[in-house]
Amino acid sequence: MPVVALSELIGQPDVSAFLRGVVASGRAGNAYLFLGPAGIGKGTAALAFARALLCSRNAPPAAQGGLFEAPAAPAGPPLDDACGACAGCQKAASLQHPDLKFLFPVSGEEKELDEHIGERLQSLREDPFHVFVYEKFASIRLSQTRELLRDLGYKPYEAGRRVVVVRDADRMREDQYSAMLKSLEEPGATTVWVLTSARPNRLPATIRSRCQRVRFAALPEAAVRDFLVARAGLPEATARPLAALTGGSLARALLLRGEDLQKLRDEALALLEPALRGDAAAMWKSAQGFMRFGKTGREALRRMVEFHQLWLRDLLRARIGAPRETLVNRDREKEIRAQAERIDATEIRRRLMVLEEMLRAIEGNVAADVAMFSGLSRVAGSRMGEGGWPRHATGRWDY
Ligand SMILES: [Zn+2]
Repeated sequence: MPVVALSELIGQPDVSAFLRGVVASGRAGNAYLFLGPAGIGKGTAALAFARALLCSRNAPPAAQGGLFEAPAAPAGPPLDDACGACAGCQKAASLQHPDLKFLFPVSGEEKELDEHIGERLQSLREDPFHVFVYEKFASIRLSQTRELLRDLGYKPYEAGRRVVVVRDADRMREDQYSAMLKSLEEPGATTVWVLTSARPNRLPATIRSRCQRVRFAALPEAAVRDFLVARAGLPEATARPLAALTGGSLARALLLRGEDLQKLRDEALALLEPALRGDAAAMWKSAQGFMRFGKTGREALRRMVEFHQLWLRDLLRARIGAPRETLVNRDREKEIRAQAERIDATEIRRRLMVLEEMLRAIEGNVAADVAMFSGLSRVAGSRMGEGGWPRHATGRWDY
């Protein structure tokens, strides 16, 4: 079963060294909080850490007096990672270790939860880089934390310690946190908590203060590109724009790896055409067209904005005479150079700021078509709607 070891974390040398130090010392803390931007491997690292802690070379001997005799620990000094060979490692790798609890947000009806969770775990078993995509309101459900707290009432079964991994731990209700808190601060507990969050401000301070924080660095574009080439088998020519587009989010790059980027980009850039012509009606029509994406509308919209950002950054590069290799949209170099002649850097930066705001609007609750219409018309500048609006009769803006 393919898994990622602590020594193989991408672009996180400090985190990797710290976690291996914890494993090798044999003294894990009560709780860890993995912080950092979304999509850079916090969840993958949390599971790798859990496996290393549950490996029978590293875990303390199981409590005596249980119903079953604990298997003898293999000889040899403790390691700083999972050995990958012992029974504990194999069970943890297939997410079937009784002392590994793994919680993550889900959505949908209560009666379908088990099925959803089962499918998700199966995908993760098949692909160690499986990307967790949630719906906006997905959360860790009450039934999940109830079951966990019930299990915590028992001693660990096999490893002598238990590891609880909670992915995106900020997606919980207040009362769930208070229920967890007791176990988090239990002195001398046999349970190690590993929480991950890209939005730690949403966690109650009482939880944050009881966790040791482990900060994950944003991934450089080059690290994502190298990963896509070496591990996902993409050609360099595809990996490069993909890494640039997803701005260091490995998860988003993996999600988009099967897409025809060039086609998506051309469609995204074409959307600006009516705005540039000052054609409000056509603009509104194409904005409405966005609604056909339904639930994925937000993601499609975000992608479109990001393609525009990449294009504008290429214009900035072209303006300072940067060579062809530095352009993301190399295949349209001629157009980029020609546009760069006609538009100055201040205007490019203004447009980049509008697009940045648009991304924030998408994260909020603005309807996709409205966000797009207002954003793109502002990118196009003051020509949008020129002469198209009736004069305001009351003059209430004239002070
Ligand atoms: Zn092992």
